[in-house]
Formats: sequence, structure tokens, C-alpha cells
Amino acid sequence: MTLRPTDSSALLIDGKLVPGAGGVFDVIDPATEEVLGHAAEGTESDMDAAIAAARHAFDDTTWSRDHAFRARCLRQLSDALQSHVEELREITVAEVSAPTMLTAGPQLEGPIADLGYFADLAESYCWETDLGVASPMGIRTHRRLLKEAIGVVGAITPWNFPHQINFAKIGPALAAGNTLVLKPAPDTPWCAALVGTVIAEETDIPAGVVNIVTSTDHRLGAQLSRDPRVDLISFTGSTATGKAVMAAAAETLKKVFLELGGKSAFVVLDDADLAAACAVAAFTVCTHAGQGCAITTRLLVPRERYDEAVAATAKTMSRIRPGNPAAQGTVCGPLISARQRARVESYLELAVEEGGTIVVGGGRPAEHERGFFVEPTLISGLDNSARVAQEEIFGPVLVILPHDGDDDAVRIANDSPYGLSGSVWGTDRGRVDRVVAGVRTGTLAVNGGVWYAADAPFGGYKQSGIGREMGVAGFEEYLETKLVAEPATA
Ligand code: NAD
Repeated sequence: MTLRPTDSSALLIDGKLVPGAGGVFDVIDPATEEVLGHAAEGTESDMDAAIAAARHAFDDTTWSRDHAFRARCLRQLSDALQSHVEELREITVAEVSAPTMLTAGPQLEGPIADLGYFADLAESYCWETDLGVASPMGIRTHRRLLKEAIGVVGAITPWNFPHQINFAKIGPALAAGNTLVLKPAPDTPWCAALVGTVIAEETDIPAGVVNIVTSTDHRLGAQLSRDPRVDLISFTGSTATGKAVMAAAAETLKKVFLELGGKSAFVVLDDADLAAACAVAAFTVCTHAGQGCAITTRLLVPRERYDEAVAATAKTMSRIRPGNPAAQGTVCGPLISARQRARVESYLELAVEEGGTIVVGGGRPAEHERGFFVEPTLISGLDNSARVAQEEIFGPVLVILPHDGDDDAVRIANDSPYGLSGSVWGTDRGRVDRVVAGVRTGTLAVNGGVWYAADAPFGGYKQSGIGREMGVAGFEEYLETKLVAEPATA
């Protein structure tokens, strides 16, 4: 089988590739603004059928109890996707405008390989623990602790790292024995739909275990969140939508697992190599045009070296020109959509209204007549109370802020509704460790370390989310706990 986008105009419902009841919708190339093709437009009735199929597959088959079979299916899926990796790369670059270089890592190949990690967990996880004998109320009782799948998972995902986020839900949800309905973002339907094609045609994953409903209608996400047949919502997206999901899920008291927005700080201490740290911060915010929840978008530098830091950061940012994501070496492609570009541009205007200085960038690059490109932009001259320092912009936009020492840097880093990620640069181990202990976020990179890996839990403090994705912690989000007690015989 060759994967072509035209294959993707299908939903996956109950093991079958079916057209959307609403027809099709356009898939736009963010780098050219041209229509690449079409994807299936799922409707409320399609979502209803997908939930029914997932419920049936969970309740009426042995899927949730056959750990070895699930491990085999996940390895099969990983291998099948790997055999299509070049087709998937081409489609991912076209649909997401993900720079090609990132498809060797978290935009494609990393997540495909990570499915193997979850397959291993299905086999090696301790599903039953003997708690031994106790005598509550004088009755000698033998207790066993069982870990079981939760049931039907509703997975709702954004467009920025579609494979990473889709597989970070499909992998652990299936490994843990659940069935799933995936509703991907309207901007990136093909990345999900092609996985549906591979599941249906090249794996033994039983009908109804994975269902995929692409649609432009955000209300299908709300439908999934409300439906009483769904036991858990695993959501990645903006904090505002996460709150709506949680409210909708509250009606049936289903568990919610939320991976949300961020405004992470890159803290440079006064004993760090300032130029090197600023260059890394500048490069990071340009990567994938800044469309990463964990990207550091506030650069905190010692006040006495503020001007020097601005110059060093500007030097790197002015050299990174937004380019064709398919070209080798492109770091910064376009934004995903006209809507997202308008949002980023409104923040650039706001920065000036707030009294900030645009040091580099600030508009659309002259060399691109088409495509949703925005120049890498550095904003100086503001403090952390500015809205551009508080709110998630989701573009290649960096706000550089002065700090008055380590404690002040921690205070500013924490002066945010978010707590997703961050970075600390310094040479004194003790000082770095105190900053690490003080910053309230789910992940922290020290001196350029990389935290992304299959076995490394990822998630947020505060309004950046609830729960952890990836690693054993991410797997256990998809499990229930059952205690079994019976009279002790010995
Ligand atoms: P979004 O919140 O607009 O949409 C995410 C998904 O939710 C989409 O599939 C959308 O159709 C669906 N949706 C929209 N309204 C809904 C509703 N009322 N109920 C249920 N579902 C609904 O986010 P986006 O613009 O697609 O993605 C960007 C956001 O995602 C940023 O805020 C970014 O920080 C966040 N994000 C977080 C992580 C993380 O792991 N913490 C990772 C990537 C992106």
C-alpha cells in the first residue's frame, strides 16, 4: 500500500474506513496557502458511531485483558508506520509545515518508535500486586491490587506536533487496554487519518479499538467530552479549551487528563556564558515558528548585562529567516493558518502599544508573498506584567526581561498562570539546583539538556495541565485501580 493524501479522506469507525457524513473539507498548505486536497468531514452521527464502536470493543471483547496481544499490535503498528516513513514525512511537512529536520525527531520518527516503549510496558507492567494479609475488623483478609484499563478514551489533539501528541495518547491508552476515539485538530486531519488507514489495512488491531473522526467542527470534541459512554478524556490544546473540556466532562464525572498551554522562562544566571545561552534561547523560539507548548518564550537575563543579552539574542534571531519547511536546514517555517498568523500579529501590535521595542522582526518576511509566515521577533523594554509576557502567543516571538539575581529570576519565572517547562543556564551547581527547586514547572532543561523521551513524563503545573503524558506516569493515567479482598486461607 502507498499512503497518499487521497487515502485519508476517510474516517476510521469500527474497523472500517468510511467517508464523513458531512462530505469533505479543504486541507491547506501553510507554506503556500494552496489547497493540498481534502479530508473527511465527520459529523455528530459519525462521532456517535465511533463512540459506540469503542464502547463495544471494550465491553464485549478480550482486548483489555490480553496484554501480550496488545503489545504485538502496537509493535505491528510501529513497524507498519516505519515502513511508510518517507510518505508520512512528505505529508507531515506539507500539512503541518513542520521543518523536515524535526521529522527525524519529535515530529515523526520519535513518536513512531515510542509506540514500542508502550508495547514493552503492556508486557512488563505489574498488573497485579499481592498486598498480603491484614485483619480489618478482626477478619483475616488476603488483598490483591489489580490495575485495569479505564475503558473508552476520548483523545482530542492540536495541530502543532500531531504525530507526537496522537501517539502519546494512542500508545499508552492501547497498551493499558483501553479503546479510543481520536478527534484530531481540523488543521491537521491527514496525519491522523493516515494512521487510521495503516491501522485498518496493516495491523491486527481489532475493529473498534481505535476510531478516528476528522472534522472542522470543534463541537465534536465537546460531544466526546460529554458522552456518558466515554470514561476518560485525554486532551491536549489550549488552556481555554481545556477548561471547557473539563466543564463538559464534569456532567458525567469522567476523568480528565489535560496537557495545556505554556509561557515558559529561559533563566540565565550571571555566571552563565551569556552569549551562548542567548543564542540557544533565540534558536529555540524560532523552531517550528515557535509553535510548541513547551518552547521558552520569556528570556530572563541579569539586569546589568541586559543590553549585551539583547544584542546577542538579536544577532541569532535576525539570522534565522523563515523558510520553506521542505528545505533541508529550515528551522522556522510558517504558522499553521491565517487565523494563527492574525493572532500572532495582534500580539506584535500589542507589544508596541504596551511600550515595548521590537528589536528584530515584527512583521511578515518580505521574501514570502504567500504562506502564513511571520518573522522571528524579539521584544525588549517591558516587564513581566506586560500581556505579551503573560499570555501564550504561539509564534516565533521572544520577550527578553531583566532579573536582579537568582531569587528574582525564580520569582519572575513563577509569575505566570502557566507552569509547563523552562530552562536554566548557570555554572554554579548549588545555585542552579536552587533555581530548579524554585521554578514551578513540569519539565526543566539545565544548560541545554533535552527532556523529551518516551520514558520521560511530560506535563504541567498550574494552568498548564493535569496529569502527565509519556513514561510510566503517562501510562498509569489510563489505568484504574481495583482492590480485591477475600478471607485468608493460610
Ligand atoms: P485548541 O485548544 O484550539 O484545540 C485543540 C483541540 O480541541 C482541537 O482538536 C479542537 O478541535 C478541539 N476543541 C476545540 N474546542 C473544543 C471544545 N469546546 N471541546 C472539546 N474540544 C474542543 O488548541 P490548538 O490551537 O489546536 O493548539 C494550540 C494549543 O495547544 C496551545 O495552547 C498549546 O500550548 C497547546 N498544546 C499543549 C501541549 C501540551 O502537551 N501541554 C502540546 C501541544 C500544544
